[in-house]
Amino acid sequence: PIETTPNIWHNGQLIPWEKAQIHVMSHVIHYGSSVFEGIRAYTQPTGAGIFRLREHMQRLIYSAKIYRMPIDYTLDQLCDAVINVVEANGVAPCYIRPIAFRGYGEIGVSPLKSPVEVYIANFPWGKYVAGNDGADVCISSWNRLAPNTMPSLAKAGANYMNSQLIRMEADANGYVEGIALDRNGYLSEGSGENLFLVRDGVLYTTPLANSVLNGITRDSILVLARQMGIPVVEQTLPRELLYICDEAFFTGTAAEVSHLRSVDRIMIADGKMGPITTALHKAFFDIVNGNAPDRYNWLTPVTVA
Ligand code: PMP
Repeated sequence: PIETTPNIWHNGQLIPWEKAQIHVMSHVIHYGSSVFEGIRAYTQPTGAGIFRLREHMQRLIYSAKIYRMPIDYTLDQLCDAVINVVEANGVAPCYIRPIAFRGYGEIGVSPLKSPVEVYIANFPWGKYVAGNDGADVCISSWNRLAPNTMPSLAKAGANYMNSQLIRMEADANGYVEGIALDRNGYLSEGSGENLFLVRDGVLYTTPLANSVLNGITRDSILVLARQMGIPVVEQTLPRELLYICDEAFFTGTAAEVSHLRSVDRIMIADGKMGPITTALHKAFFDIVNGNAPDRYNWLTPVTVA
């Protein structure tokens, strides 16, 4: 169960958690018409900070734009709203879930006559990808969203029906997560994570054209790797490269930086977290935990006393 907090932000106001309810005939319930974000706030020795708040809220605005969903709030207002609810609830570290959807109005497929509702909730949340010694994952028999079906650059609720199929199949077969191929059979991403691999000292990740979400953690890892002088290649990758790579890891707001031990029961190298993953993992956590300077201004300070 979700650990609740006192307040949820709804269309400009804080309301009690239990009052954040919608009607069963709301458009979103029937047709999946929502766009959302997942953001983490971390604590540092000097306070608390929300990780890459602006980039997340910008992506929400873009997700809404793709779906012709008008959002009545500016980027600044949405960022302020997130700060407002996090500070009101006084909980950090936490996970923040902004969501915009088509509410109660019409019941036809067209969403245009159903009002757009915006909510922002936050709550405590721990580690997401199981396995302290690395995750045992599989290649899914489900493909990721094909281009020109569901846009993968929109973080839309409906995309997660595909994610659920990937994740449930992985669970059923005893894996902690599944990696989907794209519709051409190339590596895409996990049900809720971007995918990286390392081979001969080069860091590879799948490009946006392979049906992946433009992950903000993915971007952060690319920034950190370039700054550390690690060669970075965004390129279409064949499935079997995962079996013969030196290191592999997932990135995501929930997953953070999670090292993969095996894929389809084939061990990745010796299964241990390799040197490049270790270095990037450390660089990432040093910044979010406040043990290194926040040189890219990734943290928005919040007062949660
Ligand atoms: N891909 C998918 C399908 C996701 O759901 C997520 C989580 N938002 C990611 C990648 C990682 O994105 P981010 O780093 O922005 O959380």
